[in-house]
Amino acid sequence: MDQRTPLDLAYDAVAAARLVASTAPFRAAAQDRDDGFPSEDVADLARLGLLAAPIPAAAGGTGLGDEPGACALAEVLRLVGYGSLALGRLYEGHVNALQLVATHGDAAQRARLFADARAGHLFGVWNTEPPDNGLVLREAGDGLQLGGVKTFASGAGYVTRALVTARRDGVPGTLMLVMPLDHGTRADLSAWQSQGMRASATGTLDFTGLPVREEDILGEPDSYSRQPAFSGGAWRFAAVQLGGIEAVFDAWRAHLTRTGRGGDPHQLARLGEGALALEGARNWVKRGAETVSDAILPPARIVATINLVRLAVERAGLDVLQLAQRSVGLQGFLRGHPLERLSRDLATYLRQPAPDGALVGAAAEILKADGLVGDLWDGDVT
Ligand SMILES: Cc1cc2nc3c(=O)[nH]c(=O)nc-3n(C[C@H](O)[C@H](O)[C@H](O)COP(=O)(O)OP(=O)(O)OC[C@H]3O[C@@H](n4cnc5c(N)ncnc54)[C@H](O)[C@@H]3O)c2cc1C
Repeated sequence: MDQRTPLDLAYDAVAAARLVASTAPFRAAAQDRDDGFPSEDVADLARLGLLAAPIPAAAGGTGLGDEPGACALAEVLRLVGYGSLALGRLYEGHVNALQLVATHGDAAQRARLFADARAGHLFGVWNTEPPDNGLVLREAGDGLQLGGVKTFASGAGYVTRALVTARRDGVPGTLMLVMPLDHGTRADLSAWQSQGMRASATGTLDFTGLPVREEDILGEPDSYSRQPAFSGGAWRFAAVQLGGIEAVFDAWRAHLTRTGRGGDPHQLARLGEGALALEGARNWVKRGAETVSDAILPPARIVATINLVRLAVERAGLDVLQLAQRSVGLQGFLRGHPLERLSRDLATYLRQPAPDGALVGAAAEILKADGLVGDLWDGDVT
């Protein structure tokens, strides 16, 4: 039975994200430091209902992401990324975690963790770890406890519900856990001295000694990496990146207008090239969201599609960066010019895992398919 209240039904997540996109840019410059964090913007996400929005309708939420083609979620991620890429990265992790809870949690876990999201807890998904000190679950006395760290963990010290992957001694496969954390504990941001995305607090989190209850373990071993959801989820970070590309484009466009240089045919041609790249990325993100949400294609074909989506959006981002920097010139490299931080943030956030593997993986899927290339993506193919 649909448990949504009239207030839930009237809720407009896209309108809420538009508000975030209009306020976050004014705070982003002050947050742009090694220990920065968009605390006020995360509070806005909570206040505007966006932290709770991905809770499924069946659990009394608004089910953001469950709409046909995930079109509202794609818009929300794009808009939040437009406002601040660091905030967009954090929000994407939060959405990912709640979707994993919805898919793999039992009834008690879903009730408890959705209540936490409603109460304003920020979730994160932390999978990346160093080769020599990754997360391990061990027997300790009469219970279980964690040892090791997660690295490149966005929101380290701020995320208070961390969905992490871990191995367990003597048990095959990788487990998924949702660990409660206290604000400001166990985080080390000292290595996060990056060119961009400085406000994302992407640090190291040491879980050593943290006790684990059975109810902290989510799903079956290897649930986290189950395809096509694992690779297919990359459309969400591409949607956030799209917002970052649009922000760079608008800073570039505003510069041309402000300086009266827009009428020059070379500047216009570059802006036109940028618009082509941008609209291409927008179409790819829409297609990616629909492909995963509709789930008509076989899993390997969904993964191939999303690999193309993420690489096409990366390409568009690199193209727009180059065009914008060439158009604006040295001004765009001076601190204080809007393009300067936006370029650093985008260049950094475009770095995602294994791009070469994504490209050749998609190509291999295309190579082995039968039939006409134009029919590969319509769901009625082998
Ligand atoms: C701002 C930001 C926030 C992040 N937040 C999180 C988070 O909250 N949680 C989390 O789990 N992770 C997070 N990450 C980490 C992210 O998931 C990836 O681990 C990271 O972005 C990988 O980037 P990379 O360029 O080092 O990728 P790599 O995969 O190392 O790619 C670098 C280059 O090496 C190539 N390559 C890859 N593998 C091989 C190989 N075996 N042999 C040869 N070449 C290879 C690639 O194709 C590419 O050309 C974050 C990253 C960023 C940028």
